[in-house]
Amino acid sequence: MTASRLADVRHVRIESHVVSFTLANLQKYGAKGLEGLVLWLGEVEGDVAHVSRAIVPEQKSISRESGVGYFVEGNTLFQLNRALAQTGLRLIAQVHSHPNEAYHSEADDQYAIVTAEGGLSFVVPNFGKAPLDPTIWAIYRLTQGEWRGLNMNEAKLLISMSE
Ligand SMILES: [Zn+2]
Repeated sequence: MTASRLADVRHVRIESHVVSFTLANLQKYGAKGLEGLVLWLGEVEGDVAHVSRAIVPEQKSISRESGVGYFVEGNTLFQLNRALAQTGLRLIAQVHSHPNEAYHSEADDQYAIVTAEGGLSFVVPNFGKAPLDPTIWAIYRLTQGEWRGLNMNEAKLLISMSE
């Protein structure tokens, strides 16, 4: 296996079942008035990342001054890392929902689970009631240690869906 770097990725291909599974789970949390978090796993080969699996980590939805949010415990991160080691897959993106508008909040920056340079963070509006097209969600990429928002053109160039 080559040690391809997420930072070198120029194309992210997401299997369509990953997207529908993700929205279904975000909507489940949303039905209770809660934000949800889903993690996307896959492989990186050269400049292509292939997302083939989504997992819903154990999470406690919490109330904050700013509204609602999610909280992932240390044990969940331990389980995630063990799952990654067992499957050989990489954590490519995190996806979470917001009640209304999709953007990366300060807390999202601070408590991101994706910490690898070039990793992605998607924010889905309306508690996950969004089109099955990740390119029109809010997309951020960890670039030189900062979460940078992608514009529509960058998103369409980077992201595509596959069967
Ligand atoms: Zn958020």
